[in-house]
Amino acid sequence: MAIDLTTDAEVTWCPGCPNSQILVAFRQAVTEFVEAGEMELHNIVAGAGVGCHGKISDYLEVNTFNSLHGRIVPTLTGIKLGNPNLNVVGFSGDGDSFSEGFNHITHAARSNTDITVFLHNNQVFALTTGQATTTSPKGFKGGTTPYGSVNEPVNPALIMLAMGATFVARTFAADITKTKEIMKAAMQHKGFAFVDIIQPCITFFDTREYYKDRVYWLDGKHRKGNIDSAFKVVRGATEDRVPLGILYQAEQPTFEENILPR
Ligand code: SF4
Repeated sequence: MAIDLTTDAEVTWCPGCPNSQILVAFRQAVTEFVEAGEMELHNIVAGAGVGCHGKISDYLEVNTFNSLHGRIVPTLTGIKLGNPNLNVVGFSGDGDSFSEGFNHITHAARSNTDITVFLHNNQVFALTTGQATTTSPKGFKGGTTPYGSVNEPVNPALIMLAMGATFVARTFAADITKTKEIMKAAMQHKGFAFVDIIQPCITFFDTREYYKDRVYWLDGKHRKGNIDSAFKVVRGATEDRVPLGILYQAEQPTFEENILPR
């Protein structure tokens, strides 16, 4: 069945913003699932939080909505509990879920809630024109840190591993095909799936060249089912090398399995 996931909404991201690459990757992932008969479109819910990433809900012809700032993860949790048959996906940002809603995403990971979170990680509050988030590098100069941020950044993948997420991956928005494949693997995972998508903000913190020279894809030697290997790879990332791929994946009972009557 051929499907069209575009909408009539005008795309208002800055021209060239990598958010558009994430949008294309997700449309491709959903199209492939539906056309292969592996998912039904009406069973997919794709919510978004607040930030530049949140506009994605306007550009997707799927069941979607915008949550409050930082509250996309508990909203997805409620949707999944209300109808466990849905494939529940959420788009969020580093400002949305690793600054404003940090407590929600960590507890969802801990509970192994059966949802998927795609983090548009641009290391800046972009919609509000360039303030530091928890993932901004130390020294980042923005509206709230004119002399440079004094804090070390958090590493979202490391946090998710530490909190018990059962699927943790990282990708680079510019690689649309690989991002699509990682998205599909995350959506097929049973349990909490987290994908850190490096998405440079070309207007307020343009890191495209920085990452282009540093990212690399993990090869088949990486043991994604081994938590120690995952920690080693994620902790071992230096400023010169940023690993991409599925960092960790394991099977555990989900929050819904533990809490809902059978
Ligand atoms: Fe993209 Fe940054 Fe423009 Fe927002 S401000 S649309 S993140 S380039």
